[in-house]
Amino acid sequence: MIQVAEALKIIGENSVQMSISKIKVSKSLGYVLAEAVYAPINMPPFRQSAMDGYAFTHSELAQFEVVSTSQAGDFLEDKIQKNQAVRIFTGAFVPDDTDTVVMQEHTRVTDNLLQIEKMPLPGANVRAKGEQIKKGELVLDANTVITPAAIGFLACLGITKIKVYEKPKVAILVTGNELVSAGKKLPKGKIYESNSVMLEAALKTIGIKKTTVFKVKDSLKKTKMVIESCLSNFDVVLISGGISVGDYDYVKEALLKNGVTELFYKINQKPGKPLFFGRKENKLVFALPGNPASSLTCFYVYAIPALKKLMGFEAVHLPETKRKINTAFKNTSGKTLFLKALYDDEKVTVLESQSSAMLNTFSIANGLIVVPENVTALEANDEVTVLPFN
Ligand code: AMP
Ligand code: MG
Repeated sequence: MIQVAEALKIIGENSVQMSISKIKVSKSLGYVLAEAVYAPINMPPFRQSAMDGYAFTHSELAQFEVVSTSQAGDFLEDKIQKNQAVRIFTGAFVPDDTDTVVMQEHTRVTDNLLQIEKMPLPGANVRAKGEQIKKGELVLDANTVITPAAIGFLACLGITKIKVYEKPKVAILVTGNELVSAGKKLPKGKIYESNSVMLEAALKTIGIKKTTVFKVKDSLKKTKMVIESCLSNFDVVLISGGISVGDYDYVKEALLKNGVTELFYKINQKPGKPLFFGRKENKLVFALPGNPASSLTCFYVYAIPALKKLMGFEAVHLPETKRKINTAFKNTSGKTLFLKALYDDEKVTVLESQSSAMLNTFSIANGLIVVPENVTALEANDEVTVLPFN
């Protein structure tokens, strides 16, 4: 049995970034850049009007003859004299002879005569060429996570493909004779299987959208077979249940028989003590406890860092925040506790139903309080570490 910090260290050391591939920018949401991207063009590519108004050359004059129009998309090459102005619109090319745009709300126009009522400063409302980014400058650094804004930024520079770390192919294997799929009739002695959909949803929160679910009865032979096929077809195998010490818990044996190296088994924590982490070449295996709250806690605390590292993320752990705990709390277990909790801007409250089998309060929790194994008692208002999730 090892401590939480050691388990996290082992996971970090054994999680290797995925291969790199070139993908379409339009499909890159949630991927992580594998190389720095530089601007192929200036943005904006030309001097651009920031307003609907009139372009002119700033001088002592306040009256101009409107001689032409520059609409967004136009490229107006006309020579503009000092006493002339151009009707211009947001995003349009600012003619070379002009240097300032006055917003239309500050003007009066009769026939073709423009009178500027409130004179802007020289250069006002003109976006300089390359103001946002100049050709050759860094657009996004390696390891940047692609967000909707990043997709827009890359696209506005005309970039269509980028190199990213691939996302791992993840298999979820649920074990247990007692499990029945939701939607079917529930026979006596059985329960509805819930870990597969829960883990699939949790994977989606970190950008892993496609997963394959396998279900197996408590049989060593069958468990071994399914694991063998998972190891050859997937990068990460998440197994639920069958990893404890019961007579019908075959997962560990089946993993070892398949050549998976045990990197740790059992962590001094509650919930989620019987977590197994192993590796076969670059394939990672997490055998999560079957109890739903343990399974999800282990996923958040241990599987997310591994998966994020594979995907190229730099910050892989759940973010940490500090809050004052609402009520006193005792930890006589000698284990690290991960408590389902609800935090707001100031405080954090420990929720009811901390049992590893229960999801009723996990469903409304927004974080886990971490109580280290050596902390035996917390007073109300003591500061604690909270791991926000969702
Ligand atoms: P195990 O680790 O296989 O002994 O399972 C521990 C507990 O979690 C048992 O009460 C199981 O019935 C329950 N459990 C295991 N797998 C699932 C699952 N996929 N969905 C819901 N409950 C499960
Ligand atoms: Mg079981």
